Amino acid sequence: MNAAQRQFVSGRDALRLPLIGSLLRGRYGRLLLQIPLTALALLLVIDGFTGPQSAARNLATVAPWVHYRGLVVLALLLAGNLFCMGCPFTLPRSLAKRLSSRGRRFPQRLRNKWLAIGSLFALFFAYEYLDLWASPLLTAWLIVAYFIASFVLEALFSESAFCKYICPLGSFNMVYSTLSPTRVSVRSHDICATCVGKECINGSYAAQPVIRIDEIAIDGGGPPQTVPVAHGPTGALGCGTELFAPQVQSNMDCTMCLDCVRACPHDNAGLFLRAPGSELSRPDSLPRRWDMSLLFIALAFMGVSNAFGMVPPYYALQEWLALNLGINSEFVVLLLIFGAFNLALPALTSGGAAYAGRKLGGAGMRASLRDTAAAFAPSFVPIGFGIWFAHYSFHFLVGPGLVVPVIQEFLGGTGDWSAWSFSLDASVIGLLQVAALIGGFLWSLRLAQKTALRLYRRKTTLGMLPWALLHLLLMLAAWQIFTLPMEMRGALSLFG
Ligand code: SF4
Ligand code: SF4
Repeated sequence: MNAAQRQFVSGRDALRLPLIGSLLRGRYGRLLLQIPLTALALLLVIDGFTGPQSAARNLATVAPWVHYRGLVVLALLLAGNLFCMGCPFTLPRSLAKRLSSRGRRFPQRLRNKWLAIGSLFALFFAYEYLDLWASPLLTAWLIVAYFIASFVLEALFSESAFCKYICPLGSFNMVYSTLSPTRVSVRSHDICATCVGKECINGSYAAQPVIRIDEIAIDGGGPPQTVPVAHGPTGALGCGTELFAPQVQSNMDCTMCLDCVRACPHDNAGLFLRAPGSELSRPDSLPRRWDMSLLFIALAFMGVSNAFGMVPPYYALQEWLALNLGINSEFVVLLLIFGAFNLALPALTSGGAAYAGRKLGGAGMRASLRDTAAAFAPSFVPIGFGIWFAHYSFHFLVGPGLVVPVIQEFLGGTGDWSAWSFSLDASVIGLLQVAALIGGFLWSLRLAQKTALRLYRRKTTLGMLPWALLHLLLMLAAWQIFTLPMEMRGALSLFG
């Protein structure tokens, strides 16, 4: 890159950091994370199938249900979508992509987030109904199912349909990576404008080796430079989720795989530092669709219901429903509770808030309900993240070392449980939870206020009122739940 191109650099590229940057940018950069995580996933499967069927003594339950979830929220907050970057399930996916003949596109009607909402609902439902956290065997089957689904979908369809449209873990990570301090972008939009191959999306990989010459005019004059671009088996795949690097507005749908960076022949794409959550307050950085809005809003509600499933009032509600409605099937009772909390409530309350906000803000029928809901939906990200962070960090911090004796026992030794059962002080954890909830709430409030100011001008306060009320109720509900005794899932048999 010459000096004229450098002036377009928009922020600090994290991939320019010494050592780690060049490692990640390298052809096998992603494998550095994927290989250890794949090995770990295989160990979980082995222990799940063959190890002790006790949640607290098996890697298959302790690692994903206690440690993974705590680490993932920390990584999202501090760095970015690191789990999707190192996702073990995408390793067979990449193999499938290279083996397949780049099949047809995913069906048009399914190219949205409805399947992702359904898979998130199904995962949280199965987690409660099947007590996945307590069953190493079922968790191992779940991991196997993940590998198979990812491989099959990648082999069948040309885009990364599993990551973009279905994976519940990926959907969670993508939504909350909108709060991360990094985002894929380009140094110079001018270089992209003259780029012939658009390899960041098309890929520089072709089944048959070919050499093509890109011609790019640099500095706005002079003879075009020729850049030989080698296509062949050593090339890189283009963006699996079909994001075009110069047009990336948000971390939504980005798996941080960095294929675009590796494929770009002009070294123009990178992972830039930015203000966390910047896309949440920018209009039009996220699609205005019901499915997208419901995903953002429902995930915040799911955060409350997931924590609610671990406290005594949940069992009291289950009993009350069984007694008063005469339903004795746990499956149906759970379906009713989760259907109401995770789908009906978010849909109805946000629809109601959009309707009331338009009236109060004086916008009447000018803005459609769909556009109003889409404008305010991103404001649910910080409060949702605060709730998940408070919940997952709690489970992680009460026993961060407990995975060590499980590994010791897996390797055939004796688990040194007393040495590794340390915990962060309960009052410090409580403080952290309160900070996450209040911080998330205030951030959500600020986003709702910015949106209301844009839509309703002088009636900002009235227009944002229904949304602020929803954020407040979510925060208070979560706060109330976290003050109750919570099941120590994964460590129950040892400390319960
Ligand atoms: S990021 Fe690279 S490959 Fe993509 S359009 Fe820009 S210059 Fe071309
Ligand atoms: S934009 Fe696409 S290719 Fe680039 S890191 Fe994100 S998902 Fe990967």
